[in-house]
Amino acid sequence: MFTSLRSRLLLTYTIVIGVALCVVAAVALVYFARNPAQTVQARQRLKSAADAIEQRAESLKDLSEPGLETAVARLDETFDLRVLLYQRDGELIIDSRQETEPALQLRPTQRLIRLASVITSVDDAEGDEWLHLAQSLSSEYWFVLATPRPNVSILVALRSRADDIARPLQQGGLVALFVSLILAVLMARWVAGPLQRIAQAARSVASGDYRPLKPEGPDEVKSLARTFNEMAEQVHTSQQSQRDFIANVSHELRTPLTSIQGFAQAILDGTAQSPDELSSAADVIYNEAGRMHRLVLDLLDLARLDAGTVEFVRAPVDISAMLESVVAKLTPQATQAEVALTARVDSLPGVIGDGDRLAQVFTNLVDNAIKHTPAGGDVRVVAQLVDGGIEISVIDTGEGIPPEDLGRIFERFYQVDKSRPGGRRRGAGLGLAIANEIILAHGGGLSAKSRPGQGSVFVVKLPLALPDDTTLAERRRM
Ligand code: ADP
Repeated sequence: MFTSLRSRLLLTYTIVIGVALCVVAAVALVYFARNPAQTVQARQRLKSAADAIEQRAESLKDLSEPGLETAVARLDETFDLRVLLYQRDGELIIDSRQETEPALQLRPTQRLIRLASVITSVDDAEGDEWLHLAQSLSSEYWFVLATPRPNVSILVALRSRADDIARPLQQGGLVALFVSLILAVLMARWVAGPLQRIAQAARSVASGDYRPLKPEGPDEVKSLARTFNEMAEQVHTSQQSQRDFIANVSHELRTPLTSIQGFAQAILDGTAQSPDELSSAADVIYNEAGRMHRLVLDLLDLARLDAGTVEFVRAPVDISAMLESVVAKLTPQATQAEVALTARVDSLPGVIGDGDRLAQVFTNLVDNAIKHTPAGGDVRVVAQLVDGGIEISVIDTGEGIPPEDLGRIFERFYQVDKSRPGGRRRGAGLGLAIANEIILAHGGGLSAKSRPGQGSVFVVKLPLALPDDTTLAERRRM
């Protein structure tokens, strides 16, 4: 009972409508019970009597006290009003109903003057309410005209006027209730409908349907729908990239495995017999196994970087010395490829970071540069201080990277041209992705510029000092 949003909204609306109708009915009843029609009549009588006194003021003024008494009694009779005559100092001289009614609780003089010609109410000695009006007669006298305030109890009013009050009230209330209930049903549907659609879309996402939801309904629901769409898109993208990742890994593993299997088979069934054939088969098996080994190590590395479980050392790193050692390490490879490898490193302040991981990044960048630069080309490593950070560029005069590939080379498994020769150390397109993760973990950035046919520049920016002492892996996750 009332567990769904729609039924709760409906219940709430019904209660609100019911309460509003009750309040309106109560106000209407009180209004009719106070009987304004009779009050209006009483007020009119008071005004007419006051006018009559004003018109006859001249003749009344000259009357003696007994004469005034007669005039008061006549006014009472004519207008059916209680007529009182006060002296200016507030003393009551005549009260036409002194004998029959309790005394009025009128404060003399000031109040009379203040209330002249304004109808207000006053209590008598027994607490009954009177409407009254003061009218000046002369500099000596004041008339006060009073009549009991018409007041009938609610029940009496209803009973006496059931036809013209209670019934229309009842019928109007029923119509209002009916119309507002229909509106309440529509409103409940209007609010709850879009939410139901979102619930339906969530079920569709669970079953693999990622179609975006049209944002409809109230603003809050629209914003929920938009957030839901973003979430669904992220889930979709992440599922897609998981699928791609698995497809890439299987593909990268299948190629060397097929080679290994083929050459092992050749050795086993005697197809490869001569020492040369045997040695080249063993060479292929060795290289492909090495490739698989590197691939698995890279994958493990990426998985740990993603999970944030890599323990980065936080220690001062001498960037100049590190770059020089990377260059020295790769010089034989460059010499073999007939590429001139040089380093121009300013004297630089140290950075805080993981020296081995940073060396891994620069080894990868310089190694790539050598691999992609034809014989006779140059690879230069330039490090300098810029804007409070250190900028290290690895510049080559190699084949370059086409503009359409440049934006994607940091993606996992992305290779510009899989058929490009890579020699023994041909990679799987994970090197730059790992390098990027490591640089990000150091609070820096890695970017690339290239002109096909002229060369490429890979730029690493590193901040000079980390602002806080949190571990690098934690910084990355934040
Ligand atoms: P791999 O291990 O296959 O080299 P990387 O992630 O290191 O993968 O590089 C991604 C792609 O970027 C490679 O396919 C390579 O062709 C291209 N690349 C990287 N460095 C250079 C460079 N200096 N010049 C031209 N192409 C490059």
